[in-house]
Amino acid sequence: MNSLYLHFPFCKSRCIYCDFYSTTLGQDMMALYIRALERELAKRHNYLKGSRVHTIYIGGGTPSLLPSGLLNDLFKAISLFFTLEPEAEVTIEANPDDVTEEWLEGLKGTPVNRISMGAQTFNEKLLHFIGRRHNSQQTIDAVKACKEAGIANISLDLIYGLPNQTFEDWKHDVELALSLDIKHLSAYSLSFEEDTKLDSMLKKGLVREADEELSRKMYDHLISATSKAGFLHYEISNFALPGYHSRHNSSYWQGTPYLGLGAGAHSYDGTRSRRANNPDIMAYINAKEDVPHETEVLSDEAIYNEFIMTRLRTSNGIPLDELAEKDREYCLSMAEPYLSNALLHIKNEHLCLTKEGIFTSNNIISDLMK
Ligand code: SF4
Repeated sequence: MNSLYLHFPFCKSRCIYCDFYSTTLGQDMMALYIRALERELAKRHNYLKGSRVHTIYIGGGTPSLLPSGLLNDLFKAISLFFTLEPEAEVTIEANPDDVTEEWLEGLKGTPVNRISMGAQTFNEKLLHFIGRRHNSQQTIDAVKACKEAGIANISLDLIYGLPNQTFEDWKHDVELALSLDIKHLSAYSLSFEEDTKLDSMLKKGLVREADEELSRKMYDHLISATSKAGFLHYEISNFALPGYHSRHNSSYWQGTPYLGLGAGAHSYDGTRSRRANNPDIMAYINAKEDVPHETEVLSDEAIYNEFIMTRLRTSNGIPLDELAEKDREYCLSMAEPYLSNALLHIKNEHLCLTKEGIFTSNNIISDLMK
């Protein structure tokens, strides 16, 4: 199994909470960037063993800003080196206001069969506050338009714990999202990332973090509402109808090899080597040979830690029989207090978070790590 990730670090404007690498440079740069992506693809396709891929993910930034001609060029370049498995999952991220009939028409010549849309909230004031370009009606219309264009596999992203967001606001967001007949929902608690506008507002005392009790109530509601709607809670922040979990993200959590192309993209060879392209669009476009990057050879300890961190976030938990004996002993000894107070449990040789454990998952994960 192999996955392909293509990073498109362009946005029309910046949202105040976001620390992803992206630029607001214009269309000329996009064309140069796609040519550079094609060059990197030609140079690095052998990073993956075998030429078959089971997922492709185009993320950003805002890939829905990519003109359809350039998007088609990109898929043509991919097809020179890779073959899609039958039933492959091919996702593109989109901002709701980019999802027009014309944009959807442009997808028709591509293998895209899944859209991940950044709704974030349906509250107009909050959307405006966090710097999103769209309004709530645009999200509703965009989901409808995708389905009419034959793409039913739609995921929405929501954020909870926004400044001044009430429990009723959140309930409304979740209800409205689920009423749109989507297949997948990702819901993240707002975090105040270093060097974002939101973080500087926090430091100046202009906004406050949501209190813990409210965040917990919001998350509890999310779990029960999605469960009532038939969604499976398959990862801490991810919920899907049966058969619609994100296969691309799941492959990250399962240690599948992936090739990441683009400025700021990461790759993993499935064994010990990770590579991170530098987050620098101009250096990426101007690279004559290999694009600027850093590689890391993972130590045994780093491999163990990553295994714990990624697996414990999923509902399947940590498959204990996949750990070397010493690691398994270490893991179980560190898990002991959490097993005793029912924050962890063992199910079919898998160490899993209980519902209660999910709320303190960061502490538990860091305690199980070396
Ligand atoms: S949240 Fe998305 S649209 Fe907003 S700045 Fe970040 S990458 Fe761009």
